[in-house]
Formats: sequence, C-alpha cells, structure tokens
Amino acid sequence: MQQQEKSGEQIVIVGAGLAGLAVALGLHRKGVRSVVLESSPALRASGFAFGTWPNAFRALDALGVGDKIRDLHLQAQVLRVTSSSTGEVARELDFTGKQGGRPFEFRCVRRDVLLQVLEAELPGDTIRYSSKIVSIDDEHDDAKIIHLADGSTLRAKALIGCDGINSVVSRWLGLAKPSHSGRWATRGLAHYPDGHAFQFQPKFLQFFGHGFRFGYVPCNANDVYWFYTWPPSPHDDGVDKSSGAKMKQYVLTKLRSSKVPAEALELVQRSEISDDAPATPLRFRSPFSLLFADC
Ligand SMILES: Cc1cc2nc3c(=O)[nH]c(=O)nc-3n(C[C@H](O)[C@H](O)[C@H](O)COP(=O)(O)OP(=O)(O)OC[C@H]3O[C@@H](n4cnc5c(N)ncnc54)[C@H](O)[C@@H]3O)c2cc1C
Repeated sequence: MQQQEKSGEQIVIVGAGLAGLAVALGLHRKGVRSVVLESSPALRASGFAFGTWPNAFRALDALGVGDKIRDLHLQAQVLRVTSSSTGEVARELDFTGKQGGRPFEFRCVRRDVLLQVLEAELPGDTIRYSSKIVSIDDEHDDAKIIHLADGSTLRAKALIGCDGINSVVSRWLGLAKPSHSGRWATRGLAHYPDGHAFQFQPKFLQFFGHGFRFGYVPCNANDVYWFYTWPPSPHDDGVDKSSGAKMKQYVLTKLRSSKVPAEALELVQRSEISDDAPATPLRFRSPFSLLFADC
C-alpha cells in the first residue's frame, strides 16, 4: 500500500487559546519552534475578560508581555463582597498593598487583548488557523500522527494539548472527563465609548446570596466586565439559555429582586452577551486525572 506523505513538526500545540499561545511563546523565548493548530478561522475570545491575579502577572512577566497587559488594563484597588440579600458588606480586601515585596496586582484582562498580545510576539507562521484535529495515532518511534478534519495529517515529535475543556488530546490520553461544578455562568461586557465613572477608583465588586453570585470590575476606561453564576435549582430549571437577550433578561430580573445597586443593573442593561454561548456550565478537570490516567 502506498504510504501517504506526512509533513512533520518537532512540537505541535493544539489550541490557540491562552494556554496554547502562552506555551508557544514560552518555547519561542527559549529559541524553540512550535506550531499551534487552531480549529477556528481566527483567535477565539469568547467570555470577554477574566480576573488576573499576581501569579498570572508573574507568568506574563516571564513571557515578556506583563507590562503591555498592565498598560492596557486598570489595577483594581479593592475587592468588596456584599450580601445581595441584605446589602451588608461581608468582606473587603485591599489590593493596594504588597505581596512578597511586590505590589499586589489584580486586573480584569480582556481576553481578545491578551490573545492578540501573545500572538503578536510569535513568529508569523506559528499559528495555523482552521486546523481542527480529530484524532491522534502513535507511531513506532514515539512520534504522533495528528489527523485533521480536512483529511490531512501531521507528524509531531511532541504533542501538547491546550484544546480546552472538550480536549481531543485529553481524550486520547485517557484523562477523566471534566466534572461539572454544579454551577452555570453567563458573562457580559458593558462598553462605554466616552468612558465610565468606575475607572476613577476601580473596584472588584461581588454579590453573594439570593441564589446567585454576581460581580463586576472595570477592564479599562471604556469596558466593564460582569459575571453571573448560579446553581440550577428546581425553581430555575426553566431558565431560557437560548440567546444572549434571554439571558440578559433573566439576570436583570434576578438582580432587580436583590440588593445589588442600580449602577449594576445599568451596566448589564447596556452590555453585550454573546449568542454564541449565552450561558456555560462551569466544568473543570482535576489535575489528579493526569496522575491516574491510563497513558
Ligand atoms: C464563566 C467562566 C469564567 C472564567 N473566569 C476565569 C477567570 O476569571 N480567571 C481565570 O483564570 N480563568 C477563568 N476561567 C477559565 C478560563 O476561561 C479557562 O481556564 C481558559 O480560557 C482556558 O484556556 P485554554 O487555552 O486552556 O482553553 P480555551 O480558552 O478553551 O482554548 C482552547 C482553544 O483550543 C481550540 N480547540 C479546541 N478543540 C480543538 C481541536 N480539536 N483542534 C484544534 N483546536 C481546538 C479552541 O478553538 C480554543 O481556541 C473562566 C471560565 C469560565 C467558563
């Protein structure tokens, strides 16, 4: 039988999310070439933004992009946790102090910005878009044969899986399926073209109680990120998660019946919630599954 010619790479990373691009950049800084296979035709930034703590900034500094991310995002000065049932402040953490001799840092980083900053530092031919892997085979010399959805194959000496929660690589490694945390989440980004007032004393505000956790924090002078998570209960089973507009109405209804301030309602009202994934079950893969996997 005629053997199909396979193009080869030393190191292949699957997934151009935060993990995949960070790994590729770390290798690049050490002078090691890699190729990143990404199923989407462009960078995917669903989820808008996320909270970034001092350990994340240590990693970003090691990759040489920490200051770029700092320049583009506000440093939160305080985390305040309030009961959404009573309106009482339950806890307040000052973010203006130091940790380990360095200023404590908490910023809400826009996912698209972080992905673009990482991508810009990589050689132009590193990421191959529209390259979805569907399966993997072992070759006799420990190389891996990667099968792509378009029918092509790629041979790799080392394969690094960064393909997210539904990872093909994890499945191939025999890792346990991700567990459901028992909570759902929806997120949004409120955009203020002329700037917003939250930038002058940036705070990370969280509200617990009334059957939900809700929080908001400014990313920069124009954008405020918010999240809302809830455990499905018999009462909430009928939540319509089919569109961003429906999720927004659900969140607004819940917030209106609680002690969350009016400014929060305003920012949810003006925000965009993606129709792509209006709500997500929060799932995680235990690191122990790496130890006990059959691989
Ligand atoms: C509601 C919510 C809030 C969160 N908030 C925070 C937070 O505040 N702070 C925090 O640190 N984390 C947070 N997380 C977790 C964080 O989003 C994830 O840990 C992070 O995005 C994981 O990055 P990743 O690169 O591993 O995976 P992903 O971001 O999922 O990227 C995986 C990439 O792989 C690609 N891919 C998938 N399958 C294939 C395939 N077969 N072939 C090729 N490419 C493929 C995808 O298109 C994607 O680009 C949150 C998650 C959720 C759901």
